[in-house]
Amino acid sequence: MTDIERAAATTLTPRPSWDYAPAPESTDIVRLQDSYGLFVGGEFVEPKSGKRFTTINPATEEPLAEIAEAGPEDVALAVEAARSAHDQVWRDLSGAERAKYLYRIARQLQERAREFAVLETMNGGKPIKESRDVDLPLAAAHFFYYAGWADKLEYAFPGRSPGPIGVAGQIIPWNFPMLMAAWKLAPALATGNTAVLKPAETTPLTALLLAEVIQEAELPPGTINIITGAGETGAALVESGVDKVAFTGSTDVGKRIRRATAGTAKRLTLELGGKAANIVFDDAPLDQAVEGVINGIFFNQGHVCCAGSRLLVQEPVFEELMDKLKARLQTLRVGDPLDKNTDVGAINSRQQLRKIEELVASGIDEGAEIYQPECVLPERGFWFRPTLFTGVSQSHRIAREEIFGPVLSIITFRTPDEAVEKANNTPYGLSAGVWTEKGSRILWMAERMRAGVVWANTFNRFDPASPFGGYKESGFGREGGMHGLEPYLQLSP
Ligand code: NAD
Ligand code: MN
Repeated sequence: MTDIERAAATTLTPRPSWDYAPAPESTDIVRLQDSYGLFVGGEFVEPKSGKRFTTINPATEEPLAEIAEAGPEDVALAVEAARSAHDQVWRDLSGAERAKYLYRIARQLQERAREFAVLETMNGGKPIKESRDVDLPLAAAHFFYYAGWADKLEYAFPGRSPGPIGVAGQIIPWNFPMLMAAWKLAPALATGNTAVLKPAETTPLTALLLAEVIQEAELPPGTINIITGAGETGAALVESGVDKVAFTGSTDVGKRIRRATAGTAKRLTLELGGKAANIVFDDAPLDQAVEGVINGIFFNQGHVCCAGSRLLVQEPVFEELMDKLKARLQTLRVGDPLDKNTDVGAINSRQQLRKIEELVASGIDEGAEIYQPECVLPERGFWFRPTLFTGVSQSHRIAREEIFGPVLSIITFRTPDEAVEKANNTPYGLSAGVWTEKGSRILWMAERMRAGVVWANTFNRFDPASPFGGYKESGFGREGGMHGLEPYLQLSP
C-alpha cells in the first residue's frame, strides 16, 4: 500500500453510517429459581453452612438468584456421596452402560441448548452468539466424544488394564462455565470415576441447570455432585478425601493447589493462565490474519486462557496490519450480550474489570501507546473498550502478565528466530498462532514454540478429539482427545 492509499484507507473506514437494529434474544426460556441448593447425592439440598450469596448479571448488575455456599461439612457430604456412588454403582457398570448416561446428557444439552446459552450469557456476560454457537455445541460434543470412549478404553490403552481412580474433585473458572464443566465431567465419568464439581462463584447457574439434566438423565445418585461457593469451598474440596484434583483457573491458585496436594496420594492436573503469541509473518494473508487476531483477543472479551494476547508482527507489514486492525476494531459492536449482533459483551465481574483497568493503566505509565475505538458503553454493568497497545517492549507488564480482558499488546520482529525467541519469552505456554503462506515455516515454528497448542492460519479452534494443555506455568496434564482419558485412569505399567 502506498502512503496515500493508507491515508485513504484509515479515513475511509470510520464506523458505518448505518447501524444494526437491536436484536435481543428473549430470556423467557429461562426459568430462574429465587434460591438454589447444593446438588448432592442426586438431590438439591440446603447447605449445612447456612450461607448464601447472590449471583448477578454482569451486564446489568441485576441480581439473578441466591446461591448456596458450601462449607467444609457440605464438601465432605458431597465427597461421601461421590464415594458411595463410585464404590457401589458406577465403577462396576460396563463401559457401554456408562456411555448410555453420557449420551443422554449430550442429547439433553442439544435439546435444551438455547435455554443453556441464554442462561450462560445472562450470568457470565458473554455474547449470545458465542454461548449459542461455541460454548453449548462444544459442551455437547465433548459428552458425545467421551461417551464414545467409555467402552473402548482397552483399545485406547492396550495391555494396560485401565481402571478408574475414584472420586475426582473438579474446580472450574467463570470464562467458559458449561464448556469447562463438560471438559471435566465427561472424561471423568467415561473412565468410571465419580465427581464433585465446583463452578466459579460468579457463574454458578448453568452448572445448576446441568444438575437438572443429570436428574432427568437418571444418573445413579452421587455420580456427579455440584457444590457452589468461592475460593474457600474450592480449597476445602482440594483438602477433602478426593483421589484426584482437576483445576482450571489462575496460576496463583494453581500453585496453591499444587502445594496443598504435594505429599498426598492425590493425582493432579492444572490448566492455568496464558500469554499466547499470535505471530503474523510478512507473507501472511493479511485480511484473514486480521480476523484471526481479532478473534484471538476479543473472543469472550479476552477472558480466554489461550487468548492471542501478544501480537507479534513482522516489521514490513506492521503499518498495513495496524491500519486494517484499527479499521476492524471500529466495526466491533460492544454492548448487550443478549443482542444477537453483539461481538464484545460484558466483563465478567467488577473484580476482573478492576484488574484489566489496573494493567491498562500500567501500560500507559510504562510508555506504551494505547488505541481504543469510539464506542458508547452501557451505563450499568461492567464494560471495557477493545484496546490495542503499540510501542510495547517485552519488559512491560502488559507484555508479561495475563490481562484476561480485551487488550492486545503488539510487538514487532524481523526474523523467524526473533519471533521464536519473543514468543517463548514468557512464563506461560498454552497456545500460539502462526500466520504465513509457507507450510514449511508453519512446521518450523510449531517445532520451536513452547506451547501446548499451535494454530496455523487460524486461532481459537477447538475440537473434543484434540488435546489441550500447557507448558511451564500454564500447567500440566491434557484435556480433550485420547490424552484427556489418561489423567482419570490407573494404568498398569
Ligand atoms: P481463580 O483461579 O481465583 O478462580 C478459578 C476457580 O478456582 C474458581 O472456581 C474459584 O472459586 C476457585 N478458587 C479460588 N481460590 C481457590 C483456592 N484457594 N483453592 C481452590 N479453589 C480456588 O481465578 P479468578 O480469581 O476468578 O481470576 C483471576 C485470574 O485468573 C484472571 O484474571 C485470569 O488471569 C486467570 N484465570 C484463568 C483462567 C483459565 O481459563 N486458565 C480462568 C479464570 C481465570
Ligand atoms: Mn481468585
